[in-house]
This record gives sequence, structure tokens and C-alpha cells, in this order.
Amino acid sequence: MELIRLENLCKNYRRGDLEIPVLRGVSLTIQRGDLVALVGSSGSGKSTLMNILGCLDRPTSGSYKLEGNEIATLSNDDRATLRNAKIGFVFQNFNLLPRTSALNNVRMPLDYSPTHPSDAEGRKQATRMLEIVGLADRMDHEPAALSGGQQQRVAIARSLINRPELLLADEPTGNLDSRTAEEVLRMLQRLNQEEGLTVIIVTHDEAVARHVKRVIRMKDGVIVEETAPVSSTTPAGLNPSIIEQPAPDHLPLAPKFSALGGFPRLKHAARTTRMAFGALRRNIMRSALTCLGIIIGVAAVIAMMEIGGGSSHAIQQAIASLGASVIQIDSVDVSVAGVSTGHGGGLEMTIEDAEALRRECAALQDVAPSVDSWGQVIAGNKNWKPGKVLGSTPDYLAVRNWPVVEGDSFTMDDVHSSSAVCLLGQTVAEKLFGVESPVGKEIRLRGVALKVVGLLAHKGASVMGSDQDDFVLAPLTTLKYRVMGVRQATQSSASTIGSIYSPSQVYIGQQPPLFPPTSASQANNNPQTTRFADLDDVWVAAGTPDNIPMAIKQITEVLRDRHHIQPGHPDDFRIRDWTEMSQTFASTSRVMTNLLLVVALISLVVGGVGIMNIMLVSVTERTREIGIRMAVGARARDILRQFLVESLVLCLAGGLAGIVLGRTISIIVTQILHWATMTSLPAIIAAVAVSASVGIIFGYYPAWKASRLDPIQALRYE
Ligand code: ADP
Ligand code: MG
Repeated sequence: MELIRLENLCKNYRRGDLEIPVLRGVSLTIQRGDLVALVGSSGSGKSTLMNILGCLDRPTSGSYKLEGNEIATLSNDDRATLRNAKIGFVFQNFNLLPRTSALNNVRMPLDYSPTHPSDAEGRKQATRMLEIVGLADRMDHEPAALSGGQQQRVAIARSLINRPELLLADEPTGNLDSRTAEEVLRMLQRLNQEEGLTVIIVTHDEAVARHVKRVIRMKDGVIVEETAPVSSTTPAGLNPSIIEQPAPDHLPLAPKFSALGGFPRLKHAARTTRMAFGALRRNIMRSALTCLGIIIGVAAVIAMMEIGGGSSHAIQQAIASLGASVIQIDSVDVSVAGVSTGHGGGLEMTIEDAEALRRECAALQDVAPSVDSWGQVIAGNKNWKPGKVLGSTPDYLAVRNWPVVEGDSFTMDDVHSSSAVCLLGQTVAEKLFGVESPVGKEIRLRGVALKVVGLLAHKGASVMGSDQDDFVLAPLTTLKYRVMGVRQATQSSASTIGSIYSPSQVYIGQQPPLFPPTSASQANNNPQTTRFADLDDVWVAAGTPDNIPMAIKQITEVLRDRHHIQPGHPDDFRIRDWTEMSQTFASTSRVMTNLLLVVALISLVVGGVGIMNIMLVSVTERTREIGIRMAVGARARDILRQFLVESLVLCLAGGLAGIVLGRTISIIVTQILHWATMTSLPAIIAAVAVSASVGIIFGYYPAWKASRLDPIQALRYE
């Protein structure tokens, strides 16, 4: 029965403008079960013919029929399937995959087999084939650890794994010593005789011809002579150990290539992933370095998102801790017509101003006048310098929305009577009293004893980052008169100022007094001093952010009126809308975070370019491997998928490492810098998605390039 029919087959090679004819009208038929030697001197076109027979190359003209099907016009994919299912190829230089065990080399064609056997099944078949060629004890050896003869036997086992109908051997003994060559030839002979396999052996060695049934001679691209077998050998001399293992009863007919189904997807994906891992493991150092760009990019993205998320969360909390739309009013220097009047040039804010605001501004919910103080607080043998010491009224707590968690707030009565009481923030309480409750204890502020009546709730960091709990709050008058030693002029006679609360009283023993005491007539003649001495700030709550513009308008009107400011003259007070300020601050920090995120994303792109670069190098480097894979039946899309999966695996591994690194960075930042960070699941998901897309986008071009390779050119690539 006819297996191969060639009619007037021609093949020209192009060299620039020159067409070099290599095959010049080859016509030939080969029967099923034939054992043919194609003999000819070097350069006569034997390999060219063989590559066409093996569907690795296309003829320039003429017809090639395999089992009656015209092959010359088949698509690349169909030819690949045909190579996989029907044709076994044995090369002169073995063409085994380097750094891959004999077993995996033999099993490789199964990866592209339309019958898609399972891994276990494939392993079993490959083991069987290796036993047939007598290499049962060398399965785990890599080609480098095998002799030439052993490598060629592995190659024969590989060519047989898919039970082909046609075995093509191009100078199979060219690289072997004569004894090993003899062995290999006998093996081919036996396969022909026992399995009915059609075998075509290309050789320039006349001795080989003695082992075959039919000899075809070639010279300069034409068949010059066809002889019957010179002598027919029997397998009597065959080493019985080689055939110990009975070969499969019959090499079953390969399925018709037109009726080939698709691979079950899952199995295929698992196989491709296994291949990708194998390839990456073979170059573990390079794979790791390639990932570095992605690792750094993803780590930067994760760290940015976590730190940014943490800081914006902290800012949100700080804004919430401000209170209900807090507005701060303080007095400022004014300059009229370019001349600064200096501090106090305008009228200071007074308690009457605060009262007027409370009375006249409908938009204000609470009004709390305040004075700032400072100094050390002492309790027992401990001392501490609070970040902020404020004198105010109980309304301050309402403005700041700040509850007392232990004890009670002081009252307006305490303010009126300058009671020696105070409230402590959590930090101050902890510094002075540790875990003990401070309520009922006594502290000394700048030498003045104050009784702690209550402990303020935890407030956390302010928008600017300072600790709001590092805080002592006392009645306004207590700080003003008792602690800071300045007494309201209207309440005092000259003698009381001088003798009781003047600075000279505070700094006992210092002579003479810093300021001469005000006489009674001075006090009466000077209306300025009849005002309650200056406040530092007035804190008001507008209730809701919507109310703030109205509140600011009313405050401005009332204060300008009270301070007798002419139209066109500047305010002598300043209104600070803390809600707006902190929101500005928050959005600034958001902008910063986003900028850093963009930088991190850019580094991801750079990482992607690195991956593309290395994948391109890898494709070039592995051109031969691609050729071998194509020769045993890998279709373009199999190669594309393989390289795409490799870059995907690379990027995903980089992405995962990046997530771990990013998390580590944000944990370290939290530990060392005490910045707030927040684990961000969306960031992690985005990082994985982005690194996968980077892998696909930047891996596609190299993979596509690999899949476009011509099998025969890839095989010849040095
Ligand atoms: P052999 O019979 O030794 O196997 P080949 O079939 O390999 O001979 O080569 C036949 C002729 O074709 C040689 O002269 C060789 O120079 C030429 N040839 C082979 N491959 C190419 C190629 N890719 N491009 C151009 N010429 C080629
Ligand atoms: Mg050749």
C-alpha cells in the first residue's frame, strides 16, 4: 500500500536575487512498511527532501501526497498536527532539549498530542519507549549526561512516542561510532520489521545501505538510481536485550488529522503552566532578576496605597476630632496705609467680644473664649511639659465635641470664681499618673496647685500631627489670674496687683518689680485697661459645615462693629475655618499619595519592559528549542501560549513577591516611623491584576515572535 507519493518535487533556495535549485523534479513512491535508505553525497539535497517529507519545509513546486492527501497545500497547524501524530523525526545531532531529563524529552511530543494523555499516562508511555530503546536505567539523565548513542536512542524513543506511521532519520548514525551506529540501525530495522513502521534513513554512508530493503540514490537534486536491496539482513544479530520488552502489539493508526478535537482546557492549562515553571526554573537567577522590576513596582504600589490609605484615614479622624465645624478667631496686627501698627495695634479680643458673639450671631452654636499658657506640670515626683495648656470655659468642650470620660468638667461657677481645678488629656494623665485615675489628685502648674476634676476622652492626633491629648484645660480665669499672674485691671485695686499677683509676686525675691503698679487714677483714666485683658482666641462651633460661611459673615460684622473698624480698613482679627483648612490639607496629602502612586505605576511599566526584553532574549536563545518543539508537532499557538504563560507566571510571581515586600515595608513604616498604614485589599487585587496584565501585554510580542518562527529555520539556528 502506498504511503508516500512525490511527483516532480522541486525546491529552490533563495540567496539574494539568486534562485538555487536544490531539488529538481523528484518523483518517488514509498510503500507502507518500506525500509528505505536515501544515499547521496553531501550537498545532494537529501536533507532538503527529508524536511519536505517530514512536513517541516514546503516544496517550491510539485506534489507530495501522504496517504493520498496532498500535503504541500496544508495549513501550518495541520502540518504541525501531522508531524505530531504520523511522523517521527530522528536528527543527526539528536536535537534533545538541554537540561531536561531523558524521560521528559521523550514525553515532550505528548504535550502537543491531540489524544492528550494524562501526565501519569504520558510518563508510563515514555518509560515504555525508553525501555524499548534500552535506556530504562537512564531516565532521569539529562542529555549532557548521556553518550551520543544514548542520546540518539532517546531521540528515537521520542520519535516513537506518538506511534507514528513514518519514521524519518536524517543521518542518524552520523555522530556515532560504528558500533553504536550499528546498534541504532538494527533498532530501526527491528521497528520496521516488527512494527511495520515505514522507515526512511538518509545517509551518505554506503555501509548503512546494507541494512535496508531499498536504496535510493540522489545526486544534485535528482534521483539517479534506484536499486533493490543490496543484501537483506535479518534481525538475528540483534541484541536481544533491546527487544526484551515486547513492543506494543501494533502501532495503532494515528487519528485522522482532520478529525482532531481541541484539548480539554484545564488539562492544557495545567500542562502549559508546568512547562512554564520548568523553563523558568532552568534559569532561576535570571527569572528572579527579571521579576525585580515588577517586584519593586508592585511593592511600591502596595506600600503607597497602604501608607496613603493610613494617612488619609488618620486625617479623616483628625478632622472628625476637631469638633463640629470649628472656627478659631484671634487678633492680628493690622497695617493701615502700609504702616504696621504692631502687635496689639488693633483691639485685642476680649471676653465681651466673645459674649457679644454668643448673643448676636445666630449661626453660632457654642462660643468659648480662651487663653494660652505653658509650663511644667508636676504631680508627686513626676513632671511633664504638656503640649498645650489652655484656659477656657466649659463651652470649649462643647465646641471641640470633647467628652469627659472620668470625673466631671469644671463649671461656669469655677470660671467665675477662678477655682483651682483642671481637666487632663489622656497623655498628660498617663505621664503623671500612669494607669491610676488622675481624678481627685492634685497637680502643680507653674507652682500653682490645681485639683484634677476630670479626665478628657482620647482625641488622637491633630490634622498637623500633634498629639491633642497632651493637653491641660483649666478655667480661663484660673490661668489668667492665678497661674499667669496678670489680673484684670477693673477687678483690681492698684495695691492688689502689686502686692498679690504682680510678676514680682510670682518671682518671689526679685527686686524691683518689673512693672510699676498702676495707680487708681491711672486705672480710672484709661478706658483700655477697664476691658477684660486680652484673650488669645475665641473658639466657636458653627454646628455644620454648611453653616460656616454664614457664621463667618456674622462674626465679621459683629467684631468690626465692636472694634469700630471703618469700612475699607482691614480686620484686626483673623477667622480660621479649621474644617476647610483640614480638608485642604487632606486633599494636598491625597494629591501627594496619587503622585507617588503614579511613580510606582511607572516603575511597573518599566518592570514590564524589562520582562519583554528578557523574554525576547529568551526567545532568541531558545530558538532551537522552539524548532524542536515545532518539529514534534507544536503549533504556532502552542508556542505562543507557552511563552505567554511564562511571562504571566513571571509577572504573577513578581506580583506576589511585590505584595509581600510592600506589606513588609508598610509594617516597618508603622513600626519605626509610627505612621498610620491601612491594609488595602483593593490594592492587593489591583496589584495582581496589573502584574498579570503587564505579563500579558509585555509578554505578547516576544511570544508572538516565537510563534512566527519557521520550524526548519528555528531548527537550523545556531
Ligand atoms: P545534504 O544532501 O547534504 O543533506 P542539503 O539538502 O542539506 O544537502 O543541501 C543541499 C544544498 O542546498 C546544499 O548545496 C546547500 O548549500 C543548499 N542549502 C541547504 N539549505 C539551504 C538554505 N537554507 N539556504 C540556501 N541554501 C541551502
Ligand atoms: Mg544533510
